[in-house]
Amino acid sequence: MNYIRETISFIRNTFDSRDFIPLHEPCFAGNEKKYLLNTIDSTFVSSVGAYVDEFEEKMQYITQTKKAVAVVNGTAGLQVALQLVGVERGDEVLTQALTFVATINAIAYNGAIPLFLDVDSDTMGLSPKAIKNFLNEFGEIRESGCFNKKTGNRISACLPMHTFGFPVRIEEILEICKYWHIPVVEDAAESLGSEYRTRPTGGFGTVGVFSFNGNKIATSGGGGAIVTNDQNLGEKAKHLTTTAKKPHVYEYIHEEIAYNFRMPNINAALACGQLEKLDFFLERKRSLAKLYAEFFSGKGVHFRQELNDTRANYWLMCVELEDEKEKNFFLKETNESGIMTRPIWRLMYKLPMYKECFRDSQTNAEYLESRIVNIPSSVR
Ligand SMILES: *Cc1c(COP(=O)(O)O)cnc(C)c1O
Repeated sequence: MNYIRETISFIRNTFDSRDFIPLHEPCFAGNEKKYLLNTIDSTFVSSVGAYVDEFEEKMQYITQTKKAVAVVNGTAGLQVALQLVGVERGDEVLTQALTFVATINAIAYNGAIPLFLDVDSDTMGLSPKAIKNFLNEFGEIRESGCFNKKTGNRISACLPMHTFGFPVRIEEILEICKYWHIPVVEDAAESLGSEYRTRPTGGFGTVGVFSFNGNKIATSGGGGAIVTNDQNLGEKAKHLTTTAKKPHVYEYIHEEIAYNFRMPNINAALACGQLEKLDFFLERKRSLAKLYAEFFSGKGVHFRQELNDTRANYWLMCVELEDEKEKNFFLKETNESGIMTRPIWRLMYKLPMYKECFRDSQTNAEYLESRIVNIPSSVR
């Protein structure tokens, strides 16, 4: 356990700081301040403005998708994304229990029910094999889609998440879901800039969602983006997140019950400044990951690195410790020394509101839950 003291001094030296070292702090090294002041000078601080349009264009370019829609946060983006692919009250959605609670809340907001399937131990994201096993046992294709033979409910979406920016086996997931007529929504909240087989994450599924919360790799203060290659769905996303107002010179005509999930221009201005620095952030994070990898390999500690065929954005870096006892000791020692570290999330079926939901064996999720710890990962 001596390596923990050495880890603490390594992190202090690497971040060149004797003070508290957070898990992930934003870095404003570009045009952020200038763009923010522009919004004030122009009075366009609120729900429309040039930075919203520019942000959407930048996101289309970065994710190589046809349409990006700025939204108020990633959670709202996920809620709408599920609605866009046809999730309705009483439906079931395939997803992972090893995730941040927003993934599952977005399912619940639609009145749908999560089905918790296991993750792969290497990607930490939804396992294609677990999906296949589940659907072989419970799936049935009918005229209106895939149904769960046991509950009689429709399975109307699959929602995998790219954990900490490490891509899931998204192509395998897409292939299985295509066979079963299930649309895929990617929770790419953590994986801006990550690639699977040289293609950016978020653009694989029917719809993908990003977060620009303050702790993510690029931030708008609070915010999110919905991306898709389906022009129709993209327009629908914009419509649904902007109160479904019919375009008219002066009349207020709203066509359905929709949302005010707009990203204000002031937030989009910040995001534009941040996106200009994305390549720099990715490069700095890769160099930090390399330093960690070298340090931990010398200590016999498993530092998680990107897998073959993928490029990770290294949003939050992590180590896999021996067991739960070791994990708890590591968390205690580092946090007491002013180095912020955090365990991976509590599995979703252990939370009171989701404890009755279906789950499969969860062998890998349980394994990771007891061992994975995030370590300081800021751009420096
Ligand atoms: C951050 C995050 C979200 C939600 O994003 P917000 O912008 O904070 O609403 C959703 N899913 C995952 C996996 C996240 O990490």
